[in-house]
Amino acid sequence: MTDYSGILSELVSGDWREPGTGKQYDIGVKDIVIQDSLDGAEAQLIAKQHHGKSITVVSDPYTHDAMGQRIYNALRADGQSVSEYVWQKPECSDRGVEHLRMATPGCDVRIAVGSGTVNDTVKYACFLDKRDYSVFATSPMNAYTTNTASVSFGGFKKSITCRGARGVYFDLSVLARCPARLISAAYADVICRTTAQVDWLLSHLLFNTTYSETPYTLLAYDEPGMIKGASEMLSGHVDSLAMLTRISALMGLGTRFTETTHSGSMAEHMISHYIDMFAGDKHPRSSHGEQVGIATITMSQLHHKILNNKTPPVMRPTNIDKDDLLSRFGADNVDNMINETSRKSLDQKAADQLNRRFDSDWQEIRSRLQQVMLPYDTLSESMQQAGCQRTAGDLGLDAEFYRQAVIGARYIRDRFSMLDIVDDSEGLEHFVATMPV
Ligand SMILES: [Zn+2]
Repeated sequence: MTDYSGILSELVSGDWREPGTGKQYDIGVKDIVIQDSLDGAEAQLIAKQHHGKSITVVSDPYTHDAMGQRIYNALRADGQSVSEYVWQKPECSDRGVEHLRMATPGCDVRIAVGSGTVNDTVKYACFLDKRDYSVFATSPMNAYTTNTASVSFGGFKKSITCRGARGVYFDLSVLARCPARLISAAYADVICRTTAQVDWLLSHLLFNTTYSETPYTLLAYDEPGMIKGASEMLSGHVDSLAMLTRISALMGLGTRFTETTHSGSMAEHMISHYIDMFAGDKHPRSSHGEQVGIATITMSQLHHKILNNKTPPVMRPTNIDKDDLLSRFGADNVDNMINETSRKSLDQKAADQLNRRFDSDWQEIRSRLQQVMLPYDTLSESMQQAGCQRTAGDLGLDAEFYRQAVIGARYIRDRFSMLDIVDDSEGLEHFVATMPV
């Protein structure tokens, strides 16, 4: 068995020293293992984290076939106290979490075998029950290493901070067999690093908001190789898949270095949230990563448009038109949207200050931002090679709805981004009318 854990091993042991500062970090996850195969290693990995505990392995019918059965058999053969629960119709909702807690009482530890739904439900159920959990991944994604769970309450999705996993285990031979669209979606949800970093750094440069290079220093170990290997990702090439897996794990850990999700979640994520909140019947049943992918393309186009211009934008005060928002989003959403937007909105004084700053520093600001962004062609071509959708049309999303999503996304969260710069200067209407959809 070959180990592909890379820099993650040093992070787990606490040995990694940040170049420049020499700082060391406690990432909170006790073990992260990435290998070409974990067949035969399961019992030892679990015993290392959960020795002597009574264990329930939770899977769904697909992940049971892919790996759950194998893990259960391995733990049983090892003499560990283990039972299994194959969840026929898993759902990550308040109801689903209660169902899982009732169906798996009495154990000390739950082992999740699966990706989005199974992992997040087990994570949240264990948090409520004050129990430990570990996870065997069945596709690459960021959520295994985060300490948040995305749970739907009465239809509204909430991101809840809970305890993360003790052990996170990736068997690349299992990941290589997952549906191709899950690999493409994972690629999209990490390549968005480029637009998230530009927006987060923009906010820092203009308003001195918190910013950290640490997540990006870590991602940079693998990002160039991952982009180069984008075309091999879907054929299960082990080195390429290992790079995507490491980067996904590091993206998830971003929150542990910065205490916020900003490093990998800015305007591109706000556009995706907008789609989930307001598409209703028009929602094409696309996944989070797929939506983030098309929004990353859009934000990269917007970043290039503004930052390629030697003339700075001319800012004006933010106009929050409550009546217009009410007519578009309904009373349930509008108070929250106004609160979020007010925290970052510009009054006349702030707009004047920004304009003076742009007059003197625009060349320096845009060059700082250009240094951290991927060239658009590199981004777009690599996404195509990794099988990602790149436009609303690819996703099956109504073009006009998507234009409205790009215009309205700035109201979703208080995170300042290029959407705010453009909407409070020339307006977003011209951009959305001309962007590819
Ligand atoms: Zn994401």
